[in-house]
This record gives sequence, structure tokens and C-alpha cells, in this order.
Amino acid sequence: MTVISNFDLHCHTKASDGGFTPSQIVMKAYERGLNYLAITDHDLVAGVQEAITCAQQNNELLKQGSPLAPKENYIYENAQVDKVENGSLDRSFNERLLTIIPGIEFSTTWRNEQIHIVGLFIDIENQTLNDLMAKKKLSRTARAIAIGEKLERLGFERPYERCREQAQEGASITRGNYARLIYQDGKARTIDEAFHKYLGRGQKAYVQNDWGPIDEAVQAIKAASGIAVLAHPRRYKISNLRLRTLIEDFVAVGGEAMEVASCQQKPNDKLYLTQLCQKYNLLASLGSDFHNDGIFRNLGQNLDLPDSLQPVWTAPCAERFGLSAANKQRLVHLTHKKD
Ligand code: AMP
Ligand code: MN
Ligand code: MN
Ligand code: MN
Repeated sequence: MTVISNFDLHCHTKASDGGFTPSQIVMKAYERGLNYLAITDHDLVAGVQEAITCAQQNNELLKQGSPLAPKENYIYENAQVDKVENGSLDRSFNERLLTIIPGIEFSTTWRNEQIHIVGLFIDIENQTLNDLMAKKKLSRTARAIAIGEKLERLGFERPYERCREQAQEGASITRGNYARLIYQDGKARTIDEAFHKYLGRGQKAYVQNDWGPIDEAVQAIKAASGIAVLAHPRRYKISNLRLRTLIEDFVAVGGEAMEVASCQQKPNDKLYLTQLCQKYNLLASLGSDFHNDGIFRNLGQNLDLPDSLQPVWTAPCAERFGLSAANKQRLVHLTHKKD
């Protein structure tokens, strides 16, 4: 069974390693019935304004009841709706409005691990935030060029330039961009295999990078009036003890939330993250980390939060976006025929 939530607070666009432009992601969000979508590209906010503008235009169409207004279209041919919680499937135009949350996903290095910190509800004009983005851009570009040089020696043609051509101008180039290139060139059967063969730690085209400390990222997010969220805590290849130490350090430098729900998550992982979230008194976030069309991840997919947790949108900084404790998730349970 698949659950679709109307909140998704982690996704990528062509401003970094996502496969769609900000406007295309926004249109997908309407199709999937989302009401709140955070754009969280790697180390920059270049996709945020386009997404906000696109949502404003489409919200106007919805308010006018225009036939051109976006439709909800998330019931696939092979699925049927089992039940709907906190709402109905046949929603009025007003209930389909979409709010874009300005966000970012900062890369950091903590004890030799690459740790991602998402910033939500941020002021994208803030100077401290922009200074840190400028610093990360230098470091990321140098590392992307170094990966490109390794791939070129392995026989790939113009890898760095081709990654640039496929992404938005000025985009953050990540290993995700390279993985897609390797896949397109037929050198890996899946994106995952591109990491196993080339891009993962210790592999042929791996380039180590020092991303900077977690406190720098948390402080920049807070300076920009946002809230710092520890991204996908279960995806780091570290022990439970080390994860708890990471969370303690994150809290000590001002981190206030963690992602609890993500796509493709094992029930045990969600249970464990729920316990950690309670233990450290953190707010809970949810996000698909959607990059591209595929069978495993999609906007809003499998993103429910346990009732026992306080959602991240109950934070005071979320009020600027019309959010409060009163906002409920709207969950659609889709039952697939093959279930
Ligand atoms: P970077 O920040 O340049 O090291 O790249 C990190 C990005 O690579 C992540 O945000 C993911 O999009 C992608 N990535 C990392 N590991 C994997 C993996 N095993 N499979 C697919 N994508 C991955
Ligand atoms: Mn990515
Ligand atoms: Mn990440
Ligand atoms: Mn991400």
C-alpha cells in the first residue's frame, strides 16, 4: 500500500541533480495533490524563485476556477484508492492550492562522514546564507571538475561539460549528475550501479571533499530565519551509537528538526527515527528526496508522520507560510492491484 501526503519537504530540481525544472516539479506537485512542497537543492537556492512564481500563477488559475487550472492526477492505472484521511478525493479548487517552501540541502562533513542538513522556511536573500552558498559553490565546482577529469581518463567524453549542459545554468553539479551521465552512456545498468562502479567512496572516479562543519550550515540557516533539519538520518553508513552522537552534536549547534519519514523506508527505521526524534526533543520532517521519475520515489510518497511527533511546520518560522499546528496532513492510501 502506498500513502501520499500533501506535504513533501525535500526534493531536487535541475538547479542541482534533479531531472526536472522547478516549474515541472511544481506541476507534478499539483498532479499529486500536494499542498506544501519545499525545494531543497544541493547548496543553492537557484530553483526556488521559479517554483514560487509557477505556483502563484497556478494558484490564481485555481482560485478563478479556470479550466486551465492544474488537475490532481495521482491515481495510476494500476492502483485504486483505498481510503482518504483528513479530506476527500474530490477537493475544491481552494483545497488544491500549493505553497512552495524555500529550502536548501547543505553538504557538510562531520567526523569524516558526508552529512546533509536541510534548511526550511529560509529567507533566500539573507547575506549569511548567500555567503555560505558562495563558499560551497567554489568547493563543489572544484570537486565536480576533478570527478570529470577522472571520468575523462576512464574514457567518458566531456563529462563535466555534459553535466553542465543537462542541468540549469549555474547548477550545483553533484555525483547524482554524473551518475545519470554514466547511466546514459551505458556504462552502468542503474544509477545505483554507477555509484558502485565509479562514484562511491573508494571507487574509480571518487573524489574526497571537505564540505565544512555542520555548525556553519546550521548557523547560516538560522541567520536566514529558517530551521535546520538533519536529512535522511538512516542513509548514513554509521552505527546507531554514532548516529546518536551526530544528533547530539547537531542539537548542540542549534539543529532543531530531523527527517523521520522518507520513501523506500523500512518500518523499523521509521520506528527508530521516531524514538530518536522524541528522545532529543526534535521536530519531525518528511521528504521524498525526489530527483527523477522512477518506480521507487515520488513526491509525497509514503510520507506520513506518527501522531506522537510534532511536525516541523509547527515551528514559529513556518507561520510566515501560513502553517501552524492546525495544518493536518492529508493522506491518500493507494492500493495497488498487485498488493
Ligand atoms: P555529492 O553531494 O556530490 O556527493 O552527491 C550526492 C548526491 O548523489 C545525493 O544527493 C544523491 O542524489 C546522489 N547519490 C549518492 N549516493 C547515491 C546512490 N547510492 N544511489 C543514487 N544516488 C546517490
Ligand atoms: Mn541529490
Ligand atoms: Mn541528501
Ligand atoms: Mn536530497
